[in-house]
Amino acid sequence: MKYKRLFGPVSSRRLGKSLGIDLVPYKYCPLNCVYCEVQNTTHLQTTREEFFAAEDIYAELDDFMKTAPELDYITFSGAGEPTLYSRIGEIIQYIKAKYPQYKLALLTNGVLFGDSEVLKEVLPCDLILPSLDAATDAVYQKINRPRAGLAVAELIQGLINLRKAYQGKMWLELFIVPGVNDNKAELSALSEALSQIQPDLIQLNSLDRPGSEAWVEAASGEELEAAKEFLAARLTQPIEIIAKVKYSNGMNNIDQELVSFIQATLSRRPSTAEDLAKMLDIHINEVMKILRELLLAHKLEAERMKRGVFYKWIS
Ligand code: SF4
Repeated sequence: MKYKRLFGPVSSRRLGKSLGIDLVPYKYCPLNCVYCEVQNTTHLQTTREEFFAAEDIYAELDDFMKTAPELDYITFSGAGEPTLYSRIGEIIQYIKAKYPQYKLALLTNGVLFGDSEVLKEVLPCDLILPSLDAATDAVYQKINRPRAGLAVAELIQGLINLRKAYQGKMWLELFIVPGVNDNKAELSALSEALSQIQPDLIQLNSLDRPGSEAWVEAASGEELEAAKEFLAARLTQPIEIIAKVKYSNGMNNIDQELVSFIQATLSRRPSTAEDLAKMLDIHINEVMKILRELLLAHKLEAERMKRGVFYKWIS
């Protein structure tokens, strides 16, 4: 069976071996983050929809689970915001009832947790990984570029509400954009918000692949350490740097057939990750994983053009 909504399993340092479920089409999201690795949001919305029939997702899951795969997590993630899918609650219940041996994780920007219905639906998850990159509206606008009318105070309140209602683990990701949210004033406001949210763990992240805006740069190791130290002096939670920049799964873990196809394609014609995903009929996250390894191995060059970031084979 060819899967449309499942991808992976992918191996990551945060989640181990995880099967991805993408519940929304490319790129539906209430935010348009400047660092987004799947590029600009085309549908900036907070309206929830049943983008795909839940029954189609059950059919893919049931097929995949026939082999009883070893997984650390089944994870809701993808190229948009999973909580925009109006039947995510039912899907969570379905997995919990039918496959209780698997842990369930949710990668989310947390914007919809202001809605008590959404919040209730996600409570059975074992791990929720929300993001918070700003604690003032000026920085929220600069980094996350939310849909009109969304205020950062609502996002923070939604995360506080989630923490109060939710018994599982919460690992909060803070993406450092040098020059924007790593100054003392913003980090201080963030530490106040974080002390109210009370996540179990705070993970500092930074740019790994080209983001949706060219001006965004990766934070250096020193900048990440300085932010960590600043927050650690004000918070009790553990804080770790997700040093993606240095972390590589290595080319050996990558499907060599896919690499050959990508090499043949990009040697002839530079393409975006989305183009490659369509040509290969695989999920964009799979393509991004391979492109990242190829960039680290200096096999590719990335060039930003009007339609997005184009990758070109250089060796
Ligand atoms: S990084 Fe996540 S929250 Fe931000 S625009 Fe991309 S998909 Fe949406």
